[in-house]
Amino acid sequence: DAAMYAAKRAGRGQYRVFTADMDTRAQDAELRRAVENDELVVHFQPVVDLSTGTMVTVEALVRWNHPARGLLMPGAFIEVAEETGAVIPLGEWVLRDACRQAAAWRAEYPAEADALWLSVNLSARQVVLASLVDTIRGILDETGFPADRLVLELTESVVLQPDEPTVARLNTLREMGIGISVDDFGTGFAALSYLRLLPVSVLKIDRSFVDGIDTDPDAYAVAEAVVRLAQAYRLHVVAEGIETAEQARCLAEMGCGYGQGYHFARPMPGPALASLLAERQSSPVLTKS
Ligand code: C2E
Ligand code: MG
Ligand code: MG
Ligand code: MG
Repeated sequence: DAAMYAAKRAGRGQYRVFTADMDTRAQDAELRRAVENDELVVHFQPVVDLSTGTMVTVEALVRWNHPARGLLMPGAFIEVAEETGAVIPLGEWVLRDACRQAAAWRAEYPAEADALWLSVNLSARQVVLASLVDTIRGILDETGFPADRLVLELTESVVLQPDEPTVARLNTLREMGIGISVDDFGTGFAALSYLRLLPVSVLKIDRSFVDGIDTDPDAYAVAEAVVRLAQAYRLHVVAEGIETAEQARCLAEMGCGYGQGYHFARPMPGPALASLLAERQSSPVLTKS
């Protein structure tokens, strides 16, 4: 095929390009097999209300329990998955597994889990599929997880230039009661007009804006400006990557409603999250800001 032909034609000088391409194909095949063999694991990270510390949402984050290399983080495989399209079956697997686990929590801890949202990352590759709505509807039916407790996280790069069918699909999902969240908000500041075109309900301010707000007045000022901007769209605002109590305090002071980060809780396996719900029967808050 084209890549092999190019490598042959270029001779030895192109050896690295050749192997990189083979690596991508081998990784793609391995990842698709991993999805089929249930080698993926979903971890969950709480998002808390910054004024009370109450857990309001859990974000599903994929890991790959690789038979030889151990537990791999998305940074080790998601880029190749995006490139090859393996992120489509992967994303479907994550959505199904996360909904199944969260539906079980709702059954076991009705009082604690009733108001809890489940947030799942969607790739650009999934959002442009005409079958997206049917796939999601099918997974909700199959797992019994309610549409109005599901939030889909799209990165800014996905929503910057949505085509008409994508806007229509997102509107349909919104009408079903599903929330739409813009992940890594602020990293693609080229054009914010998309926010008036799309049925967005949540903005997640990228972790790069949280970094240093507790020590650097300039960083504080920029973060505050981003929070103000997000508020101007009258959307829920979540700050990502909160690592210190002081950062949490600063964000609460700026009027940022919600936060996520190692300061509150790291991503954890489903059973650990279930224990957290069980504990909430006695103590309703996570770590107070
Ligand atoms: P994201 O959606 O922006 O998720 C937040 C990432 O920040 C997670 O990394 C999380 O573990 C990390 N994080 C949370 N709090 C802190 C903190 O206080 N400090 C620092 N330094 N990091 C923090 P993770 O789990 O490695 O995921 C990385 C990215 O991979 C995600 O970024 C998301 O874009 C992507 N991803 C994860 N799961 C999926 C999935 O199921 N589907 C798709 N399409 N992408 C996924
Ligand atoms: Mg996310
Ligand atoms: Mg994010
Ligand atoms: Mg981010």
